[in-house]
Amino acid sequence: MKLSFHGADRGVTGSCHLVECAGRRVLIDCGLYQGGREIEEENSAPFGFEPAQIDHVLLTHAHLDHCGRLPLLLKRGFRGEIVSTAPTRELARLVMLDAAHLQEEEARHRARWAARRGKENEALGPLYSILDALNTQDAFGRSAAYGEALQVAPGIRATFLDAGHILGSASILLELEEGGEKRRVLFSGDLGNAGRPLLRNPAPAPHADAVVMETTYGDRLHKPLPPSVEELYQAVADTFERGGNVIIPTFALERAQELLFYLHAGIEQRRISRSIQVFLDSPMAISATAIFERYPAFYEARTAELFRAGRDPFHLPGLHFTRETAESVAINRIVAGAVIMAGSGMCTGGRVRHHLKHNLAREHCSVVFVGFAAQGTLARHIIDGAKSVRIYGEEIAVRARIYTINGFSAHADQAELLAWHAQSAPARTFLVHGDEDAMRAIAPRLGNTRVEMPSLNQQFEL
Ligand code: ZN
Repeated sequence: MKLSFHGADRGVTGSCHLVECAGRRVLIDCGLYQGGREIEEENSAPFGFEPAQIDHVLLTHAHLDHCGRLPLLLKRGFRGEIVSTAPTRELARLVMLDAAHLQEEEARHRARWAARRGKENEALGPLYSILDALNTQDAFGRSAAYGEALQVAPGIRATFLDAGHILGSASILLELEEGGEKRRVLFSGDLGNAGRPLLRNPAPAPHADAVVMETTYGDRLHKPLPPSVEELYQAVADTFERGGNVIIPTFALERAQELLFYLHAGIEQRRISRSIQVFLDSPMAISATAIFERYPAFYEARTAELFRAGRDPFHLPGLHFTRETAESVAINRIVAGAVIMAGSGMCTGGRVRHHLKHNLAREHCSVVFVGFAAQGTLARHIIDGAKSVRIYGEEIAVRARIYTINGFSAHADQAELLAWHAQSAPARTFLVHGDEDAMRAIAPRLGNTRVEMPSLNQQFEL
């Protein structure tokens, strides 16, 4: 029995782990590397194994850094089965198609650039195409239900457990058997931040001989959620009072739906005016919201109850879904009383840049950042207090009020990771999906276990 690591090794993105047992090869996740050109170039490198020899992929959840290399895996010869929960399958479809679309667009951009310099033959094509992403859908086989053991192959059983991170997310327990030897290996996937109203808390970790654990926030404790929700309501109320709009750059998956939920609750509690206009200006977020509405049973009890009572907690009065470009452009005419949510979360592209262009220079308006903003992104520049920023070739003064609200994280913090790990009490621990600093911070606190921080393509005997 062997375990090897092919992504998210001493880094956060590109999750991909390989288990070999009883003559079968099973991947846990096959995610995309993200962030900066150098990191993204790793996507086109060889996987470190032969895709055609992989029998199954078990997918923990639909975030791009966990599913984003699946179309490439197929393109390079994978013909096995992908297993996930039902919502993960639907969300992953959306995420992979969106990624393929972006890659095709970037490839066209590279081709034009090369053509202008007479270097047509040197331009790189897309990592994979929309067609590759569509073909990947056919590889999805059985669906996994939380808590039910699934015989993946002879000698390999998998149990998906609710990870409470995004809709459909899972930790995966593998029960392996080879030549009379047995091993239990637990993969955390991404673990959620407990106590959020939409999703259930992560399921308790079962005992395992070895644990492969994410460490995104291995060196940090989160701020509590209620003051963050309070801050959001205050930002909206203050801005409307001044006669402006609120722009929220947001990620399409989970955060957008969570914000709809909080705004809905804020209206019910009369913390926010009923005459509010909310625009979800992102085709992908709109599609994701429709998927979220199809799986009420996956939510925390009180939210599930709302759905059962026919009260969709994402659907507030004055909510507009703007899918078409013309509808999006029409929002520019609104000068006050609107909350506009649009991607991308870090303002690196997407429709939010248009809304910033129209609202950033107006002191009546606000921009509310609710997620992670990497160095070098437009979001980071604004958060760091830039006096003006460049958007579509135009210098725009930053006069709007800027809020950074940090309590909405979808990841477990150090204390939650430690508690989850202690429940499993493994003899061996492999730390993945985190920066080296975060790993070094949490490693000495893990108690009586042998800790490894695997490097790319490193292999271990289980
Ligand atoms: Zn994730």
